[in-house]
Amino acid sequence: MRKPRSRSDTRTAVLGHIWCQSGSFRTHISRNVGLTEASVSRIIAELKAEGVIEESRRIAPYQGGPSAFLTLSKSIYVAALEVSNSRIHVAVGSLGGDIVFSEHHSLPDGADAGAVEATIGVAITDLARWVQRRDVVIDQAAVSIPGFHSGQTVNPIIALDAARLLQRLTQALPGVPVTVANSMVTRAVAYRLHEANKIRTDPYLFVYTGHGVGAAFVEDFADGGSVEACELGHMVVEPKGNLCRCGHRGCLETLLSSAALADVLGVAEADLIARGDQWIHEFRISAKAKRDIGERLFRLGLAIGNALNVSRSNRVVVTGWTGALPEEDRALLLDAIGQALLGGAAHIELTLAPANFGREPATGLALASHSFVRRGGARATAPDEVLTTEDARE
Ligand SMILES: [Zn+2]
Repeated sequence: MRKPRSRSDTRTAVLGHIWCQSGSFRTHISRNVGLTEASVSRIIAELKAEGVIEESRRIAPYQGGPSAFLTLSKSIYVAALEVSNSRIHVAVGSLGGDIVFSEHHSLPDGADAGAVEATIGVAITDLARWVQRRDVVIDQAAVSIPGFHSGQTVNPIIALDAARLLQRLTQALPGVPVTVANSMVTRAVAYRLHEANKIRTDPYLFVYTGHGVGAAFVEDFADGGSVEACELGHMVVEPKGNLCRCGHRGCLETLLSSAALADVLGVAEADLIARGDQWIHEFRISAKAKRDIGERLFRLGLAIGNALNVSRSNRVVVTGWTGALPEEDRALLLDAIGQALLGGAAHIELTLAPANFGREPATGLALASHSFVRRGGARATAPDEVLTTEDARE
């Protein structure tokens, strides 16, 4: 683990540990961030005085009597604007995870630039009105967009001008720092938040299958690590395959998205999404459909193996509907990974994780809290420091 250096770094490390663990004890923080108990106590006193963290009494495991349990504040608020599942969500929540405002508007795939702009305008106005009416101070906002990468001029997935969106959002919420991220970064961050009590510092490839399909390379969060979006869903696997929403043919997403799987099962996509990620256990699936799904999963495994050839990592976490697959399909995936990955997959740790990390807007709010933590939990913000992007190579 990298030793924290600057004051902001040490604050980020302490807050990052509390965030990842959904609360922690002083001794655990000290042990996990590599700081002395005296340094941790000093930082905690500072963060408590600023209202960033709260303290309650709890019995610490293996320690006997009650001691101070530290959590992120329930009275500091963050906001999120999240484009996901053919909707745009706006929400406000506390750093501690409570959602106090949430609303969504329909934004179908393929909507033109005018329609996207109009819907975003309504969503931002609703958010700003709620914030003004309640007189709530927002300390961080996050925007999550599919297909977003910093520096891009045209988004191939959605006709959305990220620079224009940022401009409108910062006009509506003046002085609020805003992070913009690819939606796979958002999901990876939300997954990490809910993977509490499993402190692992080795990097992994996070793969998500839902309405969209994508991935992110994740490095340890508690240490202020990074998340890099990877467009696994738009890896072309069948050059003459179906048309994808990105404009190419035969992307992995055209085989594995919830829309594609709804076609295989002969049901409406909304039915699949409404059942969450457990639908594979809820629909009666014919032998033919099962074979078809198996072939699609094999393609997913090959794509993961190829992604690992590009950026080596020994751990893979698969989530979304594929996170609920039975053991036999896990073996199939691992076999396919091994057929693409140089040297085979014997050393690969493949975790199928149920997507219990919540849905939008909880995912977008997790990204906002994480951005606040990464800034070292600084509350006062100079207006000229309000724009950041979080995707590749921060
Ligand atoms: Zn595509």
